[in-house]
Amino acid sequence: MKKTFLAVVLLILTSIPGMAQLKRPKLVVGIVVDQMRPDYLTRFYDQLGDGGFKKLMSDGFTMWNIHYNYIPTYTGPGHASIYSGTTPRYHGIVGNDIYYRDAKRSEYCVNDTFNVVGNGIAEIGKGMSPHRLITTNICDELKLCNNKRSKIISISLKDRAAILSGGHLADGVFWFDQKTGNFVTSSYYSTQLPSWVVAFNDRNQAFSYINEKWTPLYEGGYYSDCITDTTICAILKTGEKILPLFPHNLQLPLNSRDAKYSLLYKSPLANTLLTDLAIDAIKNGDLGKDNNSDFLAISYSSTDVVGHLYGPHSKEIKDTYLRLDRDLERLINTLNQTIGEGNYVLFLTADHGIPESPQYLANQKIPAGYLYHKALITHASEFLNTRFSAGKWVDTLMNDQFFLNRNLISEKGLDLRTVQVQLADFLMQQKGIAFAYTASEMNETEFNSSLAMRIQNGFQPKHSGDVLMVMEPGYFEYEEGYLVEHGSGYNYDCNVPLIWFGQNIKKGESWQLHYITDIAPTLSMILRIKFPSACIGNPITEIKGQE
Ligand SMILES: [Zn+2]
Repeated sequence: MKKTFLAVVLLILTSIPGMAQLKRPKLVVGIVVDQMRPDYLTRFYDQLGDGGFKKLMSDGFTMWNIHYNYIPTYTGPGHASIYSGTTPRYHGIVGNDIYYRDAKRSEYCVNDTFNVVGNGIAEIGKGMSPHRLITTNICDELKLCNNKRSKIISISLKDRAAILSGGHLADGVFWFDQKTGNFVTSSYYSTQLPSWVVAFNDRNQAFSYINEKWTPLYEGGYYSDCITDTTICAILKTGEKILPLFPHNLQLPLNSRDAKYSLLYKSPLANTLLTDLAIDAIKNGDLGKDNNSDFLAISYSSTDVVGHLYGPHSKEIKDTYLRLDRDLERLINTLNQTIGEGNYVLFLTADHGIPESPQYLANQKIPAGYLYHKALITHASEFLNTRFSAGKWVDTLMNDQFFLNRNLISEKGLDLRTVQVQLADFLMQQKGIAFAYTASEMNETEFNSSLAMRIQNGFQPKHSGDVLMVMEPGYFEYEEGYLVEHGSGYNYDCNVPLIWFGQNIKKGESWQLHYITDIAPTLSMILRIKFPSACIGNPITEIKGQE
C-alpha cells in the first residue's frame, strides 16, 4: 500500500511542469590527444576503422577551426586552458616549467612536496599537486555544485596532463611511472591507490607490452604517404640517432640507465595501456552510476613523444594514430555497454599541434631552422656586455623569454625598461626571430589581435620574462633529443581538432572560428553548472541538438 502511494506521489511530482529533472549527462569523458593536428583526421581518414575517430566524426560534431589563443603552446598550459576556459595569464600555468624571479630558479608546473603513492618506492616529497593552477577548472566546478557528490577521475601517461585536467578536488588522478610500469598518484589526492588501480597494476600489463616489439599495424602500402628519409631524425644528447626504422624494440639494453619502461612510453603501446586503464575506470571506478554527473579525463601522451622523435609525417606517427583509433573504438564500446549510448558526452581535442621538422622544410626550400638555446644566451649576453658593461645580465632563457638580472640592472642604476627595449631591438635583428616584446609593453598596452595578443594571453607579470620572443614561422628554439618542437603561436601549433559526441550533441561539422577557451564554458552549459572562476571563453552553441 505504502509503495503504491509513493509511486503515485512520484508520478504526480514528475508530471508537474517544471518539476521534471534537468537532463544532464551521467558522465563526461574528456579526451586530450597530446600534439594532435586536425589534418591527421583527414590524412589518415581512409585507413581509420568505423568505430573510433570515424564514429565520433559521423555521429558527433567536428570543429575544424579551433585555435589556441596564447603562447606558449605546451602540454601544461594546454591542459590547464582546456579545462579552465582561460589562458596562462589568468590560470597561472605559464609553461611546463615556471620561473621564480626571487629564488632565481624554475619549478616544474605541478611540483609539490607530497609523496608518490603506488609504485612501491619511497619517493618522499616528490608527489605533485595542482597548486600552481590559480583558478577553478570545470572538474572543480562540478565538485563544488553538489557538495562533492560528482566523481572525478583523471588519467594520463604524463603527470602534468592528468593533474591539470583533474583540478583541485579530483577523487583520483593517476599517471604512468616509467620506473615500475605502474600507474601512481600523489598523497595530495590520497595516501593509497583505490582497489581498481591496485588490481590493474597487479596485472603488470606494462611488462607484457615491453616484451612485444613495436611493428607497424599494416603492411607497407598503408604508409606510402609517409616520409622515410633516415637523414631527418632526432639525435639524443648521447649522440645516438633515433631512426625511423621498424620494428622498434621496447626493451632497454641491460646496461641502460634509463627507466625500465621509458621505451614503452615512447611508443603507441603506452596509449593502449592507458586505454586498458580507462576501461577499468569505466567498469570499476564507480562512474556514471547516479544522477550526479561524473567526469573521466583521459590524456594520451604517446602521440606527443612519437611526434617529437619521428615528426608528423613519419610512418611512426601514422601507425600511432591508427592504433589510437583502435583504442578509441574499444573505449567507445565500453562506454556504450557500461554507461549506455546517449547517457554520456564525450569531447576530443589536443593540447597543441606540431610543425613539420625544420630540417625537412629547409630541404624543401621552405624557410625554417633551429635556434640554439645556448647560442641565444651567449649572443644576448655579449650584446648587453658591450652595450652596458660586463656583468651577468641574463638570469635564464625559457619558453622563448629572456629573464634579466634585475638586481644587476638596479645596482648599475639602469632603467629596466631601457635594458628590455635594447635587448628586444637586438634580438629582432637576428635571423629566425620575427618580433620581441618587452614585459613593460605587455603591462602597459592592451593587444587585441594577432601574435601580440597571443603573447599577452600567455603573459603573467610574476612569472613571465623581460623580453618575449616570437620566432619566424618554421623556427624553434632547439632542444637536444628532439627532431621537432611546438610552443609557437602559429597555426601548426595552435590549430587543433575538437569533436563533440553523445547526449544532446548535434551531428555535423563546423568551420566557424572558436578558441580552446570555449570548451570549458560549453561543458558548464552541458552540465548546467557555473563557469570556472577565471573563464574568458564563450559556450559553443552550434553543437546543441534538440532536447
Ligand atoms: Zn610535446
